[in-house]
Amino acid sequence: MKSVRKGDRVQVLSGEDRGKIGRVLSVVPEKDRILVENINMVTKHQRATQTLRQPGIVKREATFPASKVLPICPGCDTPSRVRFVDVDGKKTRKCSRCGETF
Ligand SMILES: [Zn+2]
Repeated sequence: MKSVRKGDRVQVLSGEDRGKIGRVLSVVPEKDRILVENINMVTKHQRATQTLRQPGIVKREATFPASKVLPICPGCDTPSRVRFVDVDGKKTRKCSRCGETF
């Protein structure tokens, strides 16, 4: 069970993008890595291929370890650690600060 899910708002805790907030675009559970909007941008030198449109230098997000972020709790609007609680048989995240479940 991961504390970060697709669509979450998260805050980056370390590295170049420390302190920035973004939305999770995708999660790679096997590798414990995530892709976050406008975080960990890399410059790709894209070559034109048969299927691919424009060649050139493009900026895009790269995955990074999920442990570098904390989800932002919708209850207290603060990056928070979460615990897991059972709600109607479903594992639900609970904010360790305010107790909000989300
Ligand atoms: Zn909270």
